Amino acid sequence: MPFKLVVRIFAFLVVVAVVFTAVIIAQPKGRATLRIVSGFTQLKEDPRVYFELGAETLAKQISHALPGSLKIVSDLQSRPVKSGFRVYVCASHQSFSQHIGQPVGSPVRGIAFLSDVWISPKAFDFQGVDTHASTLTHELSHLHLVQHLGWFRKTKNIPAWFFEGLADWAAGTGDEIVSRRQAINALKGDHHLFPDSTGRLPFPKGASDYGLSWPMLHSQSRLFVEHLYALDKAAFGNFVTALIAGERFGPAFSNYFGQNLTDVWHRFLLSLQEPVTL
Ligand SMILES: [Zn+2]
Repeated sequence: MPFKLVVRIFAFLVVVAVVFTAVIIAQPKGRATLRIVSGFTQLKEDPRVYFELGAETLAKQISHALPGSLKIVSDLQSRPVKSGFRVYVCASHQSFSQHIGQPVGSPVRGIAFLSDVWISPKAFDFQGVDTHASTLTHELSHLHLVQHLGWFRKTKNIPAWFFEGLADWAAGTGDEIVSRRQAINALKGDHHLFPDSTGRLPFPKGASDYGLSWPMLHSQSRLFVEHLYALDKAAFGNFVTALIAGERFGPAFSNYFGQNLTDVWHRFLLSLQEPVTL
């Protein structure tokens, strides 16, 4: 290959890399993901926790909750959460929203990126309830899947309803805004998610892809994941272990539950027609 052509290709690749990096860094979410953030201090008592000025007390509470949240996720999702993550605790919901690139009116109170978890003060007073420990557990569930599968395989292989339902089931979250009763009524009334068996690249499905609001998707997803666990605890455990090992969602489901996902979903809907004890 002529030397000039090599130089041109190299220059082109450098320009592409620079533009790509600039686009990522221009996004708040990109900066947070790459840890290009300022104004956070490492908590003395726990080097995994970082806090914004004014959020030290909240950060200490997060630090106290961490061992319990890590144990829940590691036990339920078959492997330990890997070390090296950070938990960023923001001093205000406005600051949190700016760092994660969400409108300040968004009810999101925690988020997991590639390597880290971010927590809003809203987690400490959500709908009048202190949910910081469960919010932390929920986000660690997400972080765990990304750690073990990598972002690409997680996004390609794990359907959004299961990603959220698993985190909500593990953390006991998901029914704060849409109650279990409201979710069941919607499921009975054909206003419900569809149990797809893949993720979606480059962006995972959102609630609107299922024709639902986020709170409704969370509440319904948790109910279905709970149902799967109750159906066969051993199969559920083996299924989650297989997912973490990188097996494809649909085939792994059929393999470990001995029936396909669509059939189980239809029987779940039928079971809701019977009187339910909440
Ligand atoms: Zn979530």
